[in-house]
Amino acid sequence: MSGETARVEGGAAPAPLAAAALRADCARCFGLCCVVPAFAASADFAIDKPAGRACPHLRDDFRCGIHATLRDRGFPGCTVFDCFGAGQQVSQVTFGGRNWRAEPRLAPQMFAVFPVMRDLHELLWYLTEAIALHPPGPRADELRAVQNQTARLTQATPDALLALDVAGHRRYVNDLLRQTSELVRSGLGGGAEYRGADLIGADLRGADLRGASLRGAYLIGADLRGVDLRGADLTGADLRGADLRGADLTGAIFLVQAQLDAARGDASTRLPPALSRPVHWPASASGGPGPARPPAPSRSRSGSRGGRGRPGRRRR
Ligand code: SF4
Repeated sequence: MSGETARVEGGAAPAPLAAAALRADCARCFGLCCVVPAFAASADFAIDKPAGRACPHLRDDFRCGIHATLRDRGFPGCTVFDCFGAGQQVSQVTFGGRNWRAEPRLAPQMFAVFPVMRDLHELLWYLTEAIALHPPGPRADELRAVQNQTARLTQATPDALLALDVAGHRRYVNDLLRQTSELVRSGLGGGAEYRGADLIGADLRGADLRGASLRGAYLIGADLRGVDLRGADLTGADLRGADLRGADLTGAIFLVQAQLDAARGDASTRLPPALSRPVHWPASASGGPGPARPPAPSRSRSGSRGGRGRPGRRRR
């Protein structure tokens, strides 16, 4: 990222500059997502790997040696991680193109900076969307000021980045995002409250989720076929294995690519314009909604941030 902040002129999609800077460019990254986190052998990863040790499939050129067959080889988690461009920012800007293999003494600091930068880039993604959603006024100005401030933080030195109170900054930004969400959803007449709800495996076909708050909701394996999710707030919702075939996500708020990548869908799933149809989804429509069975609303308030510890990484 150049440090220049995005100019946003409306519409749900981030401005082109922001979209480019906040998308992973693995060719300019030193494989940080394949080294920094620990993996536990599971359905997402075929192996155990301690934090700070390179995955055995990471090649000398920092590309994944099994990229084309990740799912077949037991690494689906690698296909659903999004660093929001933090990898190339740390590699090319914070550390000026110096890498941990050629200069091992850089490794501890570089590896510690990566998750900090990822948090900042993720916040920038959400702020960019919030600015696009918000009508002009003092709150929109505040969002732009925070976006500028956050973008400046991404330019800081490694020591300064490691000294940041990222959790405090995230709380502040989350509050602004929540207010934006409430404003947008109130324009739709409001919606059901499922914030932090446990909807794992729930059959939500036919549920009225337009404009609903699903912030931090656990939708793992949920059946959302044919559901109208327009204007629904999906911040940090865990969509792993959720069935989105025939669902309408146009206008969904704070939905990110990694959430889609972790879900199931097909050609009949309608997406926000800023997001892409995952390559592993069938190219044709393959299923439809069944009978309605709406869930009971939950009053749980846990979970309001994106990512929420979801494993995974994507290297090309
Ligand atoms: S994408 Fe996954 S399998 Fe490939 S090198 Fe990275 S961590 Fe290893």
